[in-house]
Amino acid sequence: MILFKEAAALSQYLHQQRIAGKTVGFVPTMGALHAGHLSLIRQSKQESDLTVCSIFVNPTQFNNASDFQHYPVTIEKDMELLLTENCDILFLPPVSEIYPPSHVKEQFDLGTLETVLEGAFRPGHFQGVCEVVNRLLQIVEPHRLFMGQKDYQQCMVIRRLLELTGRKELELRIGSTQRDGDGLALSSRNLRLNAEERQQAPALFKALSYIKNNQSKADLAKLTKEAAAQLEAEGFVVDYITVCNALTLQPLQSEAEPKIALVAATINNIRLIDNLPFN
Ligand code: AMP
Repeated sequence: MILFKEAAALSQYLHQQRIAGKTVGFVPTMGALHAGHLSLIRQSKQESDLTVCSIFVNPTQFNNASDFQHYPVTIEKDMELLLTENCDILFLPPVSEIYPPSHVKEQFDLGTLETVLEGAFRPGHFQGVCEVVNRLLQIVEPHRLFMGQKDYQQCMVIRRLLELTGRKELELRIGSTQRDGDGLALSSRNLRLNAEERQQAPALFKALSYIKNNQSKADLAKLTKEAAAQLEAEGFVVDYITVCNALTLQPLQSEAEPKIALVAATINNIRLIDNLPFN
């Protein structure tokens, strides 16, 4: 695995590789790697000649200073995991390489994606995500970009970013959500859970499954209310638990629409999200 810390050096290297006919797959991450990240690395390795993983805890996407300060950093273990997966390139830039003085902040028109769910509860978050992904894509210029369905709304935001920036050739590949045996979606933030909170955390997936599994028996409004109550009984403060149109994330208008249940809830200041498509 080759380690790059400088954007220009990585760009130059990848430019040569593309000229030599190699395809490049890219997996952007914020580190504290787990099997969810590694599934994306594996998918990229299968579909690309060269796989680039970036680890960068992007300050501009945190709307909560404490969340940023407490974001887990496990860089040595991350490097070992990437070596085990035979990842080709690790990009580990300092903030100054991603946001040099010449960097100009853009505003991305994300439409209603920015005003619902994560957009509503984390003002500015998706602008920060677009800012960093746009910059990383300028540096890496991959053929394929690999992201996790765990961050469902983020995948939709990135699809929109690719449209807005005219990246028609770049393929966005979405990997399925990797979970622990008890259903808890793998997340770097799970590292912050103590033993008791870890026991409570699968309640998120249970609540989503409760709605999905009972959809034919009761109306969705009733089910989501009950699911929220289940989470609160486990000690969560619920930001939202809802079922909406899986293509737009707007409220449902009819029975026939594709549906997805999504949840965001906090336990002792640790905010977790999850989702479960219905079909
Ligand atoms: P992060 O390090 O949290 O920014 O995540 C980096 C990438 O890994 C994003 O595309 C996430 O959606 C993806 N990811 C995070 N958790 C999981 C998971 N449990 N299963 C699959 N992909 C995931």
